[in-house]
Amino acid sequence: MIVLKFGGSSVADAACMREVAALVREALPESPLVVLSATAKTTDTLFEAARRAEDGDLGAAMELQRTLILRHRGIAEDLFPGGLPEALDNALVELGGELDLLLRGVALLRELSARSMDAIASLGERLSTRILAAHMEAAWVDARTVMRTDDRHGSAVPQARELNALAAQLLAPLLGPGRAVVTQGYIGATARGITTTLGRGGSDALFGAALGASDIQIWTDVEGVLTCDPRVVPQAQPIAELSFAEAAELAAFGAKVLHPATIQPAVEAGIPVTVRHTRRPHGRFTTITAEVRTGRPITALAQRGPITVLTVTSANMLNQSGFLASLFQVFSRHRISVDLIATAEVSVSLTVDADAPLEALLEDLAEFATVGIARDRAIVAIVGERLKLTPGITGRCFGALSEINVEMISMGANEINLSFVVEQKQARTALQRLHAALFDVAGGQP
Ligand code: ADP
Ligand code: ASP
Ligand code: MG
Repeated sequence: MIVLKFGGSSVADAACMREVAALVREALPESPLVVLSATAKTTDTLFEAARRAEDGDLGAAMELQRTLILRHRGIAEDLFPGGLPEALDNALVELGGELDLLLRGVALLRELSARSMDAIASLGERLSTRILAAHMEAAWVDARTVMRTDDRHGSAVPQARELNALAAQLLAPLLGPGRAVVTQGYIGATARGITTTLGRGGSDALFGAALGASDIQIWTDVEGVLTCDPRVVPQAQPIAELSFAEAAELAAFGAKVLHPATIQPAVEAGIPVTVRHTRRPHGRFTTITAEVRTGRPITALAQRGPITVLTVTSANMLNQSGFLASLFQVFSRHRISVDLIATAEVSVSLTVDADAPLEALLEDLAEFATVGIARDRAIVAIVGERLKLTPGITGRCFGALSEINVEMISMGANEINLSFVVEQKQARTALQRLHAALFDVAGGQP
């Protein structure tokens, strides 16, 4: 069997749904399991409606609910011009009613727990899959009966052993040549049946690994993973082969095309995972492999921002062992994760997420150091498995960034990324210049 995962952009409207259906039909001999996202922007709308309800603005939440359900009904009516099949009609009414109830509950209590948010967010995938399954006359499976997770709502962790057993029991018997099975990405449930979500974009290849798929295809709106975010660098090129480590690194830096945690089991099992363009099915694509086999020094660029840089200065650092340990204890106590670190004789610079709650942390740090804060910064990262083996790369990077103020640099001995901190407003230019210097020479790959 094979897995075809379609992201939200692939099911934005009825025309997109038809294209998806055509791709799935082509794959029918290979026993396809279709894993579908919510339609484009739906998850964001659900989040927004939930927050409005929490603020007590039930009117606004209800308006978002109505528009969302009407939009899905519109897609369904376009696909069934002669009228909706009764089962689909009922499903849309039921799901709309469920969303209505959930939002009213949140508004009444003025409380939005991560658990309620997951219940609300799950509606997106449940709506889109109902429509596609009806259109294709395919079997529909509620992913929450199969995707067993822990109860970390919002970024629940799939439980591989249970997932494998449930997939074998509930999905495998439905699969076979000539028929398609449709289920949801992103959503799951705990052993007690409480709805969870795996985190934004999270679903990808998990069912494929569970079922021992021969092929996992992730369909999106780009021809694979590109050398840079195409919205920043329009001439970014598809990467033919990407190692799992590189994919994970890029994803951590905001290239959200795929969700590394949900790809890992497939890559480890040696199942080929490809990223493809729904509208250009015969175009270029990316294959994710366990290891890179190409000799290229640099694979891609990415950025993350805004981030905040903290510079911790203390005379106690001089010749003193244990200073860094006590410094990191403070961060760990406040559960603030640090991304990049650079140390000097009497100071340490660290980067943290812009929305990290710093107040209490700063109070604790003030007891043994002075702290400088620089906000609105961005990390620009150069990713490549062979980066560390290639002389001259740093020189080329600095050349490209000559007019941009680089505030911090980080490259670990065994790392696959070289990172620079720049002002957020210069990140775009930095990426464009780096891309021009590292990729746009001699027609593409460095
Ligand atoms: P989907 O709707 O299929 O889930 P997403 O919007 O989540 O798609 O992810 C695809 C988008 O990710 C692309 O349209 C592109 O704008 C963005 N993106 C950011 N960085 C990259 C990159 N390095 N390669 C490809 N796409 C990228
Ligand atoms: N619907 C979810 C999101 O928008 C998951 C996904 O798109 O894969 O993040
Ligand atoms: Mg997505």
